[in-house]
Amino acid sequence: MKNFAYVKAGSLAEAIKAMSTRGAWLHAGGTDLLGCARDEILAVEKVVSISRLKQLKGISPQPDGSLKIGALTPLADIAASVSINAKYAALAQAAAAVGTPQIREQGTVGGNLCQRPRCWYFRSDIQCLKKGGASCYAVMGENQYHAIFGGGPCFFVHPSDVAVALTALQAQLTVSGTAGNKSVRIDSFFISPKKAVLKENVLLPNEIVTEIRIPPAGASTRSSFRKIAARGSWDFALASVAVALQLGGDGVQTARIVLGGVGPYPWRADAAEKALVGKKLDSAAAAAAGEAAVAGAMALRDNAYKMDMVKGIVEESLAAFI
Ligand SMILES: Cc1cc2nc3c(=O)[nH]c(=O)nc-3n(C[C@H](O)[C@H](O)[C@H](O)COP(=O)(O)OP(=O)(O)OC[C@H]3O[C@@H](n4cnc5c(N)ncnc54)[C@H](O)[C@@H]3O)c2cc1C
Repeated sequence: MKNFAYVKAGSLAEAIKAMSTRGAWLHAGGTDLLGCARDEILAVEKVVSISRLKQLKGISPQPDGSLKIGALTPLADIAASVSINAKYAALAQAAAAVGTPQIREQGTVGGNLCQRPRCWYFRSDIQCLKKGGASCYAVMGENQYHAIFGGGPCFFVHPSDVAVALTALQAQLTVSGTAGNKSVRIDSFFISPKKAVLKENVLLPNEIVTEIRIPPAGASTRSSFRKIAARGSWDFALASVAVALQLGGDGVQTARIVLGGVGPYPWRADAAEKALVGKKLDSAAAAAAGEAAVAGAMALRDNAYKMDMVKGIVEESLAAFI
């Protein structure tokens, strides 16, 4: 591992300032960053730890019914939170689905959203497109774990489980930088490789996600997260889905169905949402939404199996609410 400078910031302003030099990387729990540094996937010249910034840690219900979660909050706290389990089940279930107990204790929610892709070409010493090279080797290569939605020119899938749930729950992220704070809708936070292949989100080099806000959950809101992985423990999603529904009257009033493990960012299954809204939630509607969830998918040579997974978990998730 190459040597790097280390800064343990005593304030947010100090962290932002320290992040303003080339090769500086933010360190939250370090479960992803330090592996990337060790394997020399990133050119790490300086590591800026924010672990001392206690104001960035915690889960606080707000007077208007929304929820504020500090970016440094460990995933284990989110998975165990009584209020998150009661009002935002999808988020608690997604946090509980991440890695191992150790990863969930050490890993933070901000780090989970900003972690780098797990594509095996990106994580190897190959100079792929995402590292500034000329080609995405997944196109002709080993592509069983790659994108079926939104791929090209690079076909990685976003690895975050929590991002999928937070997208279904319409979270807003507070981002702090030299220009102060701004609020970014999670739908606008992640970016397509078609727009910028070297990064996965809109953050500028010295910007930090400081908190996450989730709008109030209505009494009739139901949500869930489901994930399929090759192994039962510490594995990334082959496919996942977060569903957030408002149920009322005789059926589904609003629906957000978001897929993970299948695209470069949490993927809204628009056609599935449309298939559901205004309908009575029964097994036929759940199956129809499952079928609709793969509209627009384009499989590579070895990942068509993800289509059946998507159909199955969307149908299964909806059927669980009947
Ligand atoms: C064995 C193993 C299994 C895993 N399994 C899963 C899984 O199943 N599902 C899943 O979703 N993830 C998984 N992960 C990935 C990930 O490490 C964790 O999810 C964790 O939440 C990352 O948080 P961290 O605080 O350790 O991030 P760090 O490693 O500190 O940071 C990760 C990246 O985000 C940046 N960053 C961190 N915090 C912020 C912030 N507040 N603002 C801006 N940038 C920031 C860092 O600079 C770095 O680039 C796994 C990791 C390992 C090692």
